[in-house]
This record gives sequence, C-alpha cells and structure tokens, in this order.
Amino acid sequence: MIPGRPERSAPAFSFGGEDRPQGLMKLSGVVLRRDVSAEGNVSLYLFLKETGPVWVSAPGASRGRIRFGGAIEPLVWATFNLYKGTKRFYLKSADVKEDFWSLRKDSEKIRRLLEWDGLLCEHLVPGLACDEVLALFYWSGVLLKEGVHPLVAEWRFLWKWLYNWGIAPSPDFCAECGASLPSARLSSSGFLCPACARSNEGAALPAEILARLRAALELPAKKMVEYFPSASFSAPSLWEDVNSRMRHFFGAMK
Ligand SMILES: [Zn+2]
Repeated sequence: MIPGRPERSAPAFSFGGEDRPQGLMKLSGVVLRRDVSAEGNVSLYLFLKETGPVWVSAPGASRGRIRFGGAIEPLVWATFNLYKGTKRFYLKSADVKEDFWSLRKDSEKIRRLLEWDGLLCEHLVPGLACDEVLALFYWSGVLLKEGVHPLVAEWRFLWKWLYNWGIAPSPDFCAECGASLPSARLSSSGFLCPACARSNEGAALPAEILARLRAALELPAKKMVEYFPSASFSAPSLWEDVNSRMRHFFGAMK
C-alpha cells in the first residue's frame, strides 16, 4: 500500500463516523451534497474535519431555510452542531463560516467548484478522515474567489489531492525512465520524456507550459493570483486537457 493512500473497503451499510461515540459534537466542514426525499426529508453529505464525509439528517429542513440559516446549501462551510445517534447523525444547528457567495454569481467559477465537489463525492471514502484534502478544497475555493484562473486552481487542486493520496504523476521526472523533463507528453502512465513517449501519445506539453504547471504547484497560495490571473491566459485548451487527464488518475483507485 502506498503511504497516505486510503483503503477503499468501507462496508456497504456505512454512514460514516461509526467509530465516534453517540452524543453531541461540534465539527467544522462543508456541505458536499443535499438530497431531499419525496417526503421532504433532507439528507446532507458533509465533509467534516477529523471525520471525513458523512451523511447527516436535517429534520424539518425542507420547511424553509430559516432553521439552518442557509447552512444546508452545497459548498457552504460551517461549524456543524451534530447529534450522533445509533444509526446516523442529525443536524442540530450550524454557524456559517464561508458561503463563497461572490463565486455563486460567476457561472464559470461555480461550475468548477461544483465539479470538484462532485469528484469528492465520487472518490472520498465515507467515514474516513481526509483533513489535508478538506483544507485543499477550502483553499482552492479561496483561490477562485481571489481571481486565480479556474483552470490553474483546478490543476493545483487535482494534483495536490492525487499527491496526498500518493498517486500524483511527477511533472519533474519521466514516469518510464526517470530522466528530468525538459518538455513532456502527459499519458495515462504519467509525464513522459520525448524519448519514452510514443508519437501522438497523450498531450504534448512544451517546456513553457510544463514550467507553468510546475510553478502552479510550487508557488505559495498568496502569490498565485499574481502569476495566474483570470484575465490574460494562454493555451486554456491545453490546461483543460491536462486537467481532464488528471481526473483519470483517480480511476487508479478503483
Ligand atoms: Zn523517459
């Protein structure tokens, strides 16, 4: 097993957080999903610190947003006051910390954030704490809010998540021969040097793009908007292609 890579053997009946004792608890995190049943019962899929993703019932939530003060919308960050019963968690109240309201008016940015949300729903293991990825998701939203180009914020988010799980392809060394990479082709096996890549295999990344991809991983968050502003951005389709190939690396987990 690769260090940091979670086991994917959660039991089918898992609601997450089974190892926590029953009772009241206060946990910070984000709403990933909200499901409303035909009877009007609301279930939230929360991604929580020290707990991972768990399903939480929000009784009475469908009778208006007032009770939970807007805290049950997807992508809202809050401190959640929960009660854990024998079979599931219940939401008692929530204090909203960040709702990314300014992003909700920008269709391109909110679409990205919802896509990342969808990937988290798909790939995280219920009940398995994943605090580094939780923090990464938060700070990636902040980068979008601060005006970093969405494609760059996405590359950084996906690569750093894969890295946390020990399955990120190295953008520095060839995945086959280990040589340092002047330019590369990104294939399903990773970044390949010109000698190892078969012609037309994967996406061709000239030296300049490869350098920018690396810079986006190495720069401190507060420098990102200076180097990668939303306005003026070259080769967006290449970054889009790189990001869609990054998503395939999560497939290696299955
Ligand atoms: Zn090589």
